[in-house]
Amino acid sequence: MMIKPIFNKVLAENANLVNYAQAKTQPPPRCTQPKGLSSGGINIGYEAVDRHLGTPFEDKVALRWISKKDQIVELSYHQLSKQSSAFGSLLNQLGLASGSRIFSLIGRRPELYIAALGTLKAGCVFTPLFSAFGPEPIRSRMEIGEANVVVTTVSLYRKKLKSWWRELPHLKAILLVDGNPDNEEGCFDFHLLMGSADPQYPTARTLPEDTALLHFTSGTTGKPKGVLHVHQAVEHHLLSAFYALDLKPTDTYWCTADPGWVTGTTYGIIAPLCIGVTMIVDEAEFDAERWYKILQDQHVTVWYTAPTAIRMLMKAGDTLPCQFDLTALRFMASVGEPLNPEAVEWSNRVLKMPFHDNWWQTETGGIMIANYPSEPIKPGSMGQPLPGIEAAIIIDDEQGHLVEASTPMTIGELAVRAGWPSMFRGYLNQAEKYAQCFNGEWYLSGDLAMMDEDGYFWFVGRKDDLIKSSGHLIGPFEVESVLMEHPAVAEVGVIGIPDPVAGQLVKAFVALKPGISADDDLRQALLGLARKRLGAAVAPKEIAFRTNLPKTRSGKIMRRLLKARELGLPEGDTSTLESDEQ
Ligand code: ATP
Ligand code: MG
Repeated sequence: MMIKPIFNKVLAENANLVNYAQAKTQPPPRCTQPKGLSSGGINIGYEAVDRHLGTPFEDKVALRWISKKDQIVELSYHQLSKQSSAFGSLLNQLGLASGSRIFSLIGRRPELYIAALGTLKAGCVFTPLFSAFGPEPIRSRMEIGEANVVVTTVSLYRKKLKSWWRELPHLKAILLVDGNPDNEEGCFDFHLLMGSADPQYPTARTLPEDTALLHFTSGTTGKPKGVLHVHQAVEHHLLSAFYALDLKPTDTYWCTADPGWVTGTTYGIIAPLCIGVTMIVDEAEFDAERWYKILQDQHVTVWYTAPTAIRMLMKAGDTLPCQFDLTALRFMASVGEPLNPEAVEWSNRVLKMPFHDNWWQTETGGIMIANYPSEPIKPGSMGQPLPGIEAAIIIDDEQGHLVEASTPMTIGELAVRAGWPSMFRGYLNQAEKYAQCFNGEWYLSGDLAMMDEDGYFWFVGRKDDLIKSSGHLIGPFEVESVLMEHPAVAEVGVIGIPDPVAGQLVKAFVALKPGISADDDLRQALLGLARKRLGAAVAPKEIAFRTNLPKTRSGKIMRRLLKARELGLPEGDTSTLESDEQ
């Protein structure tokens, strides 16, 4: 299939192509070309840090790291540029050529950022993994991703890599960011090598279509897929952060995503640095009080987080945020899962500001649909496509062809016209699966949605999660959102269970807020609320209370697992499952 770049640098230069009016904002900053690269060359690492050298940004703090113990380390753009160049030179000293695969298996530590940017600048491919993965998911990803180097810590190495890494034919070196106490062959002290590496090491002459990133999907619907992205993606990283996150160089920005998934790279490393912000990086895990304190103490202006974290903040109560001064905050966005209207209402009421939902996937490489900063939010909607992005709802016509739905609020598959720069260029070793994602000019996302008359998109559910009950098509999100309105409810996952009469019946799994106990009165209240709001045909027939819902490490509710357990079926791939209590 021909892939036409429709959203390349030309857009930034030719305002006529972009509906700037839609974004109601000034034209975005432009991607530049690496100095000394041949025409057409582009490198994500260069765009993120080196292009700020020689500008007033050079000595600005690029990254402010807060350790678990509240130690603060700052890196300026200049320092990040030199250290990432040094990392590139280190890879070169280890004998790695461009195209080599560099994996990270560390939490949010400064070395992660240096390694990611240095890898890209060296023309190598960067792959982050969740440090909380067990040895098996790490091994399988390194095997299929043909990892050449892993950047990790001594304790993660000992616990998760030590016993098997030599069996991987491509894996040549382990770089340990906190020393090399065991002094094993093939293991190196990251900082020792960095000490003798060249901070002037030149950026590789990468081309727009050179592979830059290999990301594994969250594994919500099945076995995680390896998704390949190219250097050209940076154009969309930058523009989407400008349009959808309203990022400006004057911002102090905090993206809470784990570095193990795509948000942690696109909007946790690349896009904010391209714009020139000061990024806050917190090493610690979620803690409501800590989070509000960081927002306050660091004067965070733009905050990008996920529904699962927002639900945890809601669970922590409405009075906690009142103890903090959050007045610096001017924009908040959410991604990863549907954002229930209740969460938007809560943030409006308690944080005095709404969360802006936006939609994208590992495959899209960046935000595709967003509630713009400058447009009214429709709570429960993912928003509108970004400038240069064309999205549609695709349905089967009566002849069995896939066509664009012409009537507003028709449920169909959410599709994006192929050819945007951060579009994935393949699934690792799965060419057929990649081809199946496209129909003509359209990339089919696997998500079901509707578009309203104003061009806003509404998430319905994953294709796999759609429930068909007595002739009704029911999206889990709609049912979950209504149950979330009940003050006792913290989290909901809805599935369809087989029924001989209706085809499927709706069953809801509900986790309650702390201190609330599950009883039959509450069950009846929830069933009553759902019937009243959704009608008897769509409301759940059954409600089961659970302490927690099974979630991926990126925070997505795994409905397929609820279903498999309910039906006594095999659980399938659970490599990304966070431990969950029944
Ligand atoms: P896998 O493809 O392995 O099953 P995954 O699809 O969860 O995992 P990701 O690429 O991390 O892996 O997540 C993208 C998916 O997350 C989207 O396809 C969509 O289902 C969901 N998602 C992301 N943002 C939103 C949003 N704003 N509203 C609703 N769903 C969202
Ligand atoms: Mg997916």
